Amino acid sequence: MPQKGILIVVSGPSGTGKGTVCRELLRSNPYLKYSISATTRSPRAGEVEGINYLFVAKDQFKTMIENDDLLEWAEVYDNFYGTPRHYVVEQLNRGYDVVLEIDTQGAMKVKEKFPEGVYIYIIPPSLDELADRIHKRGTDSLDVIKKRLECASGELSLAHNYHYIVMNDQVAAAVQKIKTIIAAEKLRAQRN
Ligand code: 5GP
Repeated sequence: MPQKGILIVVSGPSGTGKGTVCRELLRSNPYLKYSISATTRSPRAGEVEGINYLFVAKDQFKTMIENDDLLEWAEVYDNFYGTPRHYVVEQLNRGYDVVLEIDTQGAMKVKEKFPEGVYIYIIPPSLDELADRIHKRGTDSLDVIKKRLECASGELSLAHNYHYIVMNDQVAAAVQKIKTIIAAEKLRAQRN
């Protein structure tokens, strides 16, 4: 029986670049598995079904909740997002480390079930920088951008619920910090 993998939960306000950081992290470590969330939001340009998200209808999402298929779920910016349970549990049991990139509400629900997980909060260098990044991404309407920025300042106050806070001023540096965190946490898990 392999040693169980560790669960790594990454959150941060929209526009902190946590998606890019997670992508780079996964690219450089084949033993890390990414949990693909289900969402009722529409795909953005360039997003691919089954890679970025499982894009589902509201009814389907409701059925997943009723069948207890989701480890956690939350309503974020008027859409539903949730973590399919089966994949996460299976990969952890097979000894792989699993990354969940989810919002703070979902992360706190997961923390109740997996207190031994590693909780990492990614912050932008500043709120101004955050606004700039969301605008530059160019994928959201002005209304959505406004809503995301309002939520971001509220979300930042939740950072203290995480084990680590990583500032993403340079993607490569943020990735390196997270790799170091994972390496240390794996050594700690082996001791227990
Ligand atoms: P986006 O629409 O920008 O892809 O994601 C919006 C927010 O939903 C982000 O904070 C993202 O981390 C979060 N999110 C993505 N997947 C999940 C999930 O499965 N559960 C929860 N609770 N949040 C998620």
